[in-house]
Amino acid sequence: MVCPFCTSSECRRSRRRNLVDYVASVVGTIPWRCSRCSSRFRSRATPLTHLLSAHCSICGNIELKRISGELAEGIGAPLWRFLGIPAFRCMPCRHKFFTLLPLSKEVEDTELKIAS
Ligand SMILES: [Zn+2]
Ligand SMILES: [Zn+2]
Repeated sequence: MVCPFCTSSECRRSRRRNLVDYVASVVGTIPWRCSRCSSRFRSRATPLTHLLSAHCSICGNIELKRISGELAEGIGAPLWRFLGIPAFRCMPCRHKFFTLLPLSKEVEDTELKIAS
């Protein structure tokens, strides 16, 4: 998530605080808070393009780290491990899960840069 005020990508989901936030979440937008400039803004939980890439089902984040299947949890985890389904960990919320969706291009590029 990119902050619309300072274009920093250091944004975190903010807690719902009032009725307006609650109503907004029902229509599909959630409150975010930028950790660089402290602005609060709303955005969709999961941008459409993210739906086609591996993303965290809790916070919609696409900055995932590939992890060993042994570390991921959830219903059917032993089966996913057996099938060799890739496992990922969400960096901001530490949710660990399995997904068949490919990593987002942006994240893949970053990983390649780190690897080389
Ligand atoms: Zn900001
Ligand atoms: Zn997450």
